[in-house]
Amino acid sequence: MAFEYAPAPESRAIVDIAPSYGLFIDGEFTEAADGKVFKTVSPSTEEVLSEVAQAGAEDVDRAVKAARKAFQKWSALPGSERAKYLFRIARIVQERSRELAVLETLDNGKPIKETRDADLPLVAAHFFYYAGWADKLDHAGYGANPRPLGVAGQVIPWNFPLLMLAWKIAPALATGNTVVLKPAETTPLSALFFADICRQAGLPKGVVNILPGYGDAGAALVAHPDVNKVAFTGSTAVGKEIARTVAGTRKKLTLELGGKGANIVFDDAPIDQAVEGIVTGIFFNQGQVCCAGSRLLVQESVQDELLDSLKRRLSTLRLGDPLDKNTDIGAINSAEQLARITALAEQGEAEGAERWSPACELPSAGYWFAPTLFTNVTQAHTIARDEIFGPVLSVLTFRTPDEAVAKANNTQYGLSAGIWTEKGSRILAVANKLRAGVVWSNTFNKFDPASPFGGYKESGFGREGGRHGLEAYLDV
Ligand code: NAD
Repeated sequence: MAFEYAPAPESRAIVDIAPSYGLFIDGEFTEAADGKVFKTVSPSTEEVLSEVAQAGAEDVDRAVKAARKAFQKWSALPGSERAKYLFRIARIVQERSRELAVLETLDNGKPIKETRDADLPLVAAHFFYYAGWADKLDHAGYGANPRPLGVAGQVIPWNFPLLMLAWKIAPALATGNTVVLKPAETTPLSALFFADICRQAGLPKGVVNILPGYGDAGAALVAHPDVNKVAFTGSTAVGKEIARTVAGTRKKLTLELGGKGANIVFDDAPIDQAVEGIVTGIFFNQGQVCCAGSRLLVQESVQDELLDSLKRRLSTLRLGDPLDKNTDIGAINSAEQLARITALAEQGEAEGAERWSPACELPSAGYWFAPTLFTNVTQAHTIARDEIFGPVLSVLTFRTPDEAVAKANNTQYGLSAGIWTEKGSRILAVANKLRAGVVWSNTFNKFDPASPFGGYKESGFGREGGRHGLEAYLDV
């Protein structure tokens, strides 16, 4: 639901970013043991936003100890008491949502209309949803006496920094676990503001600990012997490394990894509606979405009409200042990510696919990539197989529903898919054959905290959201 406010570029003033931040351990902001710091920059301007303490193995150990100590009391609280804290956090997130939306847009580069209308409302909704479960666990058919696991070590990526934090922390706290969370190195700020919200909500010390840092801190957290549960969202490569670390320990593990979602448009689909869904599917958050519809599978007979319409629509997208409420396409999150997208798009051309982008001027500072469409793509092309994680759509065609299913499933991933057709029976028949954790019909990228989310194959295992998201944090 849209909020009633219209931030202009000057709304930068809404958020007060300190010149430096510490790690959040045992309820206090503190320096890293070795004094290391790193800078976080705004990807749309390359402005340094703040200098942040960089966690190392010693800090991980301190944070895990604090979480272990806090676990005794936190897990012993009645669920109704834990619910009060979660409701309080949800309400503070709502109250501070303008500030948090601007902060997230500054640190991540995504358009303010997305942080304002999607990220922040979903963050609050997630805490409300799991607050509602906290006092019902004994009576919800889990069997007698479900138990929290202990200390959860959580590692998240940069594409939805606060939302991924909510997906991890809300179910962990509702079930009586304590948390050590490492945000991504390019987007530490909203997690640090969340630490402040935990204090504002009066959350007992040590229940939530936030450790900004790099992959080495994530690796130390995952490997720490006193962590009982590991939850990771990020790349498939790192996910596999974590699975190897955790193998042979008694830790529970859930992995939310990469994707290569197929958006399947049948010849009876309402074309205008499908075009909107395709745009949302791949250009929302500049395509830096694990469940993006990065492969368009269009029925051959409507290919020309659909592509004409899609190109017209792409020509109307506005790329630029993410704080402008009219912006549709913001900045790419980092120079590294931009280089990766650029290389894959160049490879697409080199392998013979046809590249098209609408006319658009890219700002001189910051990290930008124009919305890009590739046609004449075959399943052998790298851009049809590898996750690009950027605003790049690969178009393939099909003739029959079976061919559509075969092509959609022809990927190492299995996170998301979309079906566009007016035939309800076809939606059910096709959806049941797709090996994807979520299948949207006549829409795309819609989320609800009550709905489980997660992947098949190399998109990972375990589910977040809904009742299934609780089970990842409980022994029954
Ligand atoms: P990444 O795997 O490089 O980093 C993710 C997080 O892991 C970061 O916090 C990073 O510091 C940390 N990390 C890096 N190396 C580590 C190690 N060896 N041990 C422990 N932690 C380590 O991924 P990214 O580039 O930040 O994010 C993009 C990827 O995330 C994409 O592949 C995308 O599909 C995936 N993703 C998946 C979902 C999902 O729900 N399935 C959601 C968002 C993003």
